[in-house]
Amino acid sequence: MMSPTEFMELKTLSDIQGRFDIAHDRLLNKENFSHGVRPYSLYQPEVSCQYEKHGKRCSQQHQKGYIVGCQDGAVVLIGHCCAHKHLSLDDESLRASFKMLDATEKQAIRRRKVESRLEQRQTFIEQGRAVHMRYKELQARVNEVNGTLPRQIWRKLVERWKSNSLDVVWEYQTTKVGVDENGKKFTEMAWHPSSYGKLNGLGIWLQLGAQEYAEQIADFRKQLELIPVKKLLTNLEIDHAEATFSSVAAITNIEREFESQFKLLDEFLKPSNLVLTIQLISNQAIRAETVVAVHQLTGQSLAEKPEKFVAEIERQLKRKHKATGVRIQQ
Ligand SMILES: [Zn+2]
Repeated sequence: MMSPTEFMELKTLSDIQGRFDIAHDRLLNKENFSHGVRPYSLYQPEVSCQYEKHGKRCSQQHQKGYIVGCQDGAVVLIGHCCAHKHLSLDDESLRASFKMLDATEKQAIRRRKVESRLEQRQTFIEQGRAVHMRYKELQARVNEVNGTLPRQIWRKLVERWKSNSLDVVWEYQTTKVGVDENGKKFTEMAWHPSSYGKLNGLGIWLQLGAQEYAEQIADFRKQLELIPVKKLLTNLEIDHAEATFSSVAAITNIEREFESQFKLLDEFLKPSNLVLTIQLISNQAIRAETVVAVHQLTGQSLAEKPEKFVAEIERQLKRKHKATGVRIQQ
């Protein structure tokens, strides 16, 4: 088998001529054929087939073909079609040997790709470390928010995000008292919706633990470390390295995802947005807890009792609409 340092892709006729001493004026036939040397696949159909058909040279210009050895040691070029039609199709063992050449070629290409990526191993290791650190930072921020907001509010946020219902709507009640045309007193009550605003910045961060990011990152880092540091990898090691490198793209995507989650968290934690969380639930005790949490998360001090803060929100809504009652929209 060809060693990777010897391996060079053959893309032009001059690549071939640079590596092999081709006897261009020789003809190849079944009788003087010895063995396949290696296949090639060029950019252009610039090679003339040297197979002898009906007493003369095939001369078909081709891109894909084989470098072939003759019985007397001469090396010639034969097009893919002639090679299969005239040499291998009639002869099972030749076909097998050509197939093996193809497989060798493919393996050599894989090996070369893996080796060029191996040169970036340190970069990938650093990328793995960086994305791991970023995950830890994101997790710490999420945990802080999660640990500060009341559990019920967190659950509401997850529901709101999943159902994409971001509008925080409360209703206020108006009561009209009057006398009808028959002189009878009547009371007319009605509920009207009023929006407090739209929740911003909800995202995957609400369920960060469920995404298996940590597992993917840890596995990537571990697999990278498992690729041996040596010149020549075995075929098994090539398989493993190839599989590991194929997850670089996924890790890069995760990296990007983290950055967008950081942005979403920033948006969510803006005071004007965070204050909406107080309005996600009607339970007064939880709303008071949320007031405390919101102040903690924004670093603002709370001058009054949290219950007063909640009552003030309702009082303002009532005053604005001359309402007789308020309730959360069901
Ligand atoms: Zn031919």
